[in-house]
Amino acid sequence: MEVTVDTVIRNASLADGQRGVDVAVAAGRITAIGPALPLRGAQEIDARGDLLSAPFVDAHFHMDATLSYGLPRVNASGTLLEGIALWAELKPQLTQQALIERALQYCDWAVARGLLVIRSHVDVCDDRLLAVEALLEVQRQVAPYLDLQLVAFPQDGVLRSTTALANLRRALDMGVEVVGGIPHFERTMADGATSVRLLCELAAERGLMVDMHCDESDDPLSRHIETLAYETQRLGLQGRVAGSHLTSMHSMDNYYVSKLLPLIREAGVAAIANPLINITLQGRHDSYPKRRGMTRVPELLAAGVEVAFGHDCVQDPWYSLGSGDMLEVAHMGLHVAQMTGQDAMRACYQAVTSTPARILGLRDYGVAVGNHADLVLLDAPDPVAAIRLRAARRLVMRRGKVIAEAPPAVSRLHLAGRPAQVDFRLQR
Ligand SMILES: [Zn+2]
Repeated sequence: MEVTVDTVIRNASLADGQRGVDVAVAAGRITAIGPALPLRGAQEIDARGDLLSAPFVDAHFHMDATLSYGLPRVNASGTLLEGIALWAELKPQLTQQALIERALQYCDWAVARGLLVIRSHVDVCDDRLLAVEALLEVQRQVAPYLDLQLVAFPQDGVLRSTTALANLRRALDMGVEVVGGIPHFERTMADGATSVRLLCELAAERGLMVDMHCDESDDPLSRHIETLAYETQRLGLQGRVAGSHLTSMHSMDNYYVSKLLPLIREAGVAAIANPLINITLQGRHDSYPKRRGMTRVPELLAAGVEVAFGHDCVQDPWYSLGSGDMLEVAHMGLHVAQMTGQDAMRACYQAVTSTPARILGLRDYGVAVGNHADLVLLDAPDPVAAIRLRAARRLVMRRGKVIAEAPPAVSRLHLAGRPAQVDFRLQR
């Protein structure tokens, strides 16, 4: 007798290259994958050969600042430092309600784009910890459809600000799960190194993960990633630590980098680049030639380091654009890093899906039997085409339920020799 399950998605392609497979879903989990499954779904979905992917994962975001662009004024210079100053002007004016509303609106955008996991830094340099309280509330509200992982981020410097360390500990006590930092913003290189040691010790003490804004500058002599790798191996934190941005690596001496990359690999420290933001914020003090502001992604990958791409900002004091589309992030990362080979382009797709899933420590993620039925059906046949087209998300599924849908783009022009409706899909 034919067995009935909740849903069968027929004739899908998978990110690993499999084609023409069916995926069965029951009770929120993937129960079978294979060609022509002899099962009947209460709901049957025809993938038409399109890519059925695990959801997008954003490894680096700032949800407390998102959608605040223009409040209280715009960033005139467009620099990182004016952005930080502007955020300090805005902070005292923040209300919990407005912050929650903006964050929830962003989560709606994210879900529509198949982005179902976000690691967000939350600024703890406000003695009220208003943003921490607000994002913990958002985390609770969105939990049924989106995983929000929070990082306690001392934006003004954990040593440079007198109350940051106490606030950071309070935020962890309240339930924030990851220890953040910003060593390049401390007063001296020595203070930066001290902050890395102190924050890694705090994480080791509490059994937490670490994700620091690290060397986010064009300074070729910034050395905090070296310290982060050292402290990670000293404290046995391998596999639990990420360095975000690492833009100074772009400007470092090549000989030094040839020593540094194996140290990062040995410590099991992951790298998180933020292509949209790095390319717009860095190189601002250059005339021409102007440096690209992104870390050495292909070289890190070749050295065996995990590299994810983050969105970082959407319409906030640092960035006026963005829409929560991780395919746009992958597209920019691919271009800035000149990762145009087939394997390199696929690595860019992994940098917004499976790689950040590992860095964040997600369980039961991925298109495999037994995992959560968290899936995105894209209007594209494979990961490279998905990036090229920034493909429509035909449907987004969370725990087996369809929570967003979008139709493919269709032209209504009458073109010679073609039907009245030209399906854009034909042009791919
Ligand atoms: Zn950031």
